Amino acid sequence: MGAELRRRFDDALMPNYGTPPVAISHGSGSRVWDVDGRDYLDLIAGIAVSALGHAHPALVEAVSRQVGRLAHISNLYLHEPEVLLAERLLHLLGGTGRVFFANSGTEANEAALKLVRRHAGKGRSYVVSAWQSFHGRSMGSLALAGKPAIREAFAPFGIDVRFVPYGDSEALTEAVTPDCAALFLEPIQGEAGVVEGTVDYLRAARTRCDETGAVLVFDEVQSGIGRTGEWFHHLAVGVRPDVVTLAKGLGGGLPIAACVGLGRFGSVFAKGDHGSTFGANPVACAAALAVLDVIEQDDLLSNAKSVGAVMRDGITGIDHPLLRGVRGRGLWLAILLDGPHAVRAEGAALKAGFLVNAVQPDAVRLSPPLILTADEARSFVSALPGILSAAAPAEVG
Ligand code: PLP
Repeated sequence: MGAELRRRFDDALMPNYGTPPVAISHGSGSRVWDVDGRDYLDLIAGIAVSALGHAHPALVEAVSRQVGRLAHISNLYLHEPEVLLAERLLHLLGGTGRVFFANSGTEANEAALKLVRRHAGKGRSYVVSAWQSFHGRSMGSLALAGKPAIREAFAPFGIDVRFVPYGDSEALTEAVTPDCAALFLEPIQGEAGVVEGTVDYLRAARTRCDETGAVLVFDEVQSGIGRTGEWFHHLAVGVRPDVVTLAKGLGGGLPIAACVGLGRFGSVFAKGDHGSTFGANPVACAAALAVLDVIEQDDLLSNAKSVGAVMRDGITGIDHPLLRGVRGRGLWLAILLDGPHAVRAEGAALKAGFLVNAVQPDAVRLSPPLILTADEARSFVSALPGILSAAAPAEVG
């Protein structure tokens, strides 16, 4: 049945994703089943999205209740779940400000781009972003992406974006001048392979933006909402942005994103400046409220830290010619390989019953549900040497 679905997928869907290797039918907890009945431990969670795993009763209940009351109203009217969620996010972010809700990470960053342009007026002509960064695929966010392979075919973007090497405070300080409207940074770069900016680097970003009046935007689309074992990475390192963007884990699988303007940056947009028909959709807001409740009630931040440590320590303890190390925080790790073996490792993991992701040619990403158990983490650690051997080119294996 899976093979047949893949064939029909190829005929009916655009080829931009290639042909995915399996057709998933359903999930429960951290496991998913394919349409042929085979089960897998989901260590990627829809790319850092399914924070509560699959079919979590609290998410099912919240979404079912909300869809039975009011599925959509548009932003011509307001509803309670959006107000509750905005208040809750501001509380978690520990400050004042205001929230704009969107449906995906790229839209949250588009909102941030418009916000900084609105703030800058005509005077500040460019924005700064980092090489290897990823902020989404729509044209504004793509203009910010420091990955030539995904952007070049779509240029020009109509936005002057200047790129700096990630982690280089001097380059950042030079690039951000009084003519710069904003600096966009992921405090930890996800698609680059879970690459962390040091505290000093993030502080240098804050200092330079303060000196020049550029807006500091942190893209926490992937790093936020508990992924690292903290609600937000910037709070853990104590560097406050002016604007923060969120998505992915926020809805636990329902599409919702947020562009949060902190302090006075919450009041930059005037009526009519921005909007989205589906943004702040009641069902998505109800889902996000359930996600935040469960993370709090079940202390999933601690779980992400402790189970993340089991995974990380377990991988560190493996001696294998293909394995170079592991980096990351909480339940967000990159297994570093001794060469471009990640695609084969992803395939070998799938065969062994684990969903992982070749995020870079030489790095495999793990971003499992925050409910992952220590035993589930250990089951992957035990299987990893075999997976690596199966992925090894003939001369290494
Ligand atoms: N920003 C970051 C840091 C991301 O990792 C991603 C997606 O991987 C995005 C933005 C884009 O999010 P979306 O795919 O929901 O548009």
